[in-house]
Amino acid sequence: MSRLGHTRDKIYKTVARQLHGIVPCWVCGQPVAQADATLEHIKPLSEGGNSHLENLAISHAVCNRTRPPNTTPHVPQHQNPVQL
Ligand SMILES: [Zn+2]
Repeated sequence: MSRLGHTRDKIYKTVARQLHGIVPCWVCGQPVAQADATLEHIKPLSEGGNSHLENLAISHAVCNRTRPPNTTPHVPQHQNPVQL
């Protein structure tokens, strides 16, 4: 397993222990299964973030991929204007 994968599992297990088995997605707030968990950089590497534990969080693989830059966590992204 890669080093990042090892870190991911470690963070996942730590959060699961703290939150009684539920690991919320950092992006959407819904529970994440371990098989679907990816590591998210809270502050992107491109903005000077690092890979230390305090800058890493768990998110869904799909949320990680689709997260736009500068996303604030747990804010609904469905803000498209209503089509009349
Ligand atoms: Zn998610």
